[in-house]
Amino acid sequence: MKLIPIPAFDDNYIWMLHDGRRALVVDPGDADPVLAALQQGGLALEAILVTHHHGDHTGGVDTLRRSTGAQVYGPALERMPEPLQRLGDGDVIWPLGLRFEVLLVPGHTAGHIAYAGQLPGQDPVLFCGDTLFSAGCGRLFEGTPAQMLASLTRLAALPEATRVCCAHEYTLGSLRFARAVEPDNAELRAYQARAKALRDQHLPTLPSTIGLEKAVNPFLRTHLPAVALAVQQTAPDARDPVSVFAALRTWKDQF
Ligand code: ZN
Ligand code: FE
Repeated sequence: MKLIPIPAFDDNYIWMLHDGRRALVVDPGDADPVLAALQQGGLALEAILVTHHHGDHTGGVDTLRRSTGAQVYGPALERMPEPLQRLGDGDVIWPLGLRFEVLLVPGHTAGHIAYAGQLPGQDPVLFCGDTLFSAGCGRLFEGTPAQMLASLTRLAALPEATRVCCAHEYTLGSLRFARAVEPDNAELRAYQARAKALRDQHLPTLPSTIGLEKAVNPFLRTHLPAVALAVQQTAPDARDPVSVFAALRTWKDQF
């Protein structure tokens, strides 16, 4: 299986998995770059996986379904381009014969889902939409800090080798904030240098891994004293985990 980020708009990635003949894509906000990739690779699109209702993730779904006949999967709880198979927490699907488990991860939107996939002989993959970004997380448009913290905690519990396929190239901006939170984190400093070198060559910083994110992503590290203490510089009353997470998210929003 080949895993490819197809760039779309300014900073979106439409993730594609294919075996040289059959393909699936995740969150196709735009049909055109997907159709170009299918044609270039001589691939048949069999499945479209959607994580949440935002237009930059759903805009190409109707065109792709009509032109390829692909099966569309999406969240049970959100407004979606019909028809599709609606999925809730714990559901399992087998696009391209691959096992994907659905996790309900509210926070960015109220019914956001993620897809945790198993690839025979390869490291697992996670398609997490706008929930987890490398060194960051999605904005809380519809959910509460408690919901997002619980969602990210579930994702952090996946195997460390899991390849994290986020829907946006936000890594350098997220890293600038992460360095402000944890200036003494050596892994974070090293990752920032690697990410800068990749972006200087116009290469994606993604996929990341769960193991890397646990080492560098402040939103997965709010339980650590260094992160809590940094947050308390801006929000002295933030003591419990949810308050620390909420204050960290607010700090990032204003950064
Ligand atoms: Zn979104
Ligand atoms: Fe998005």
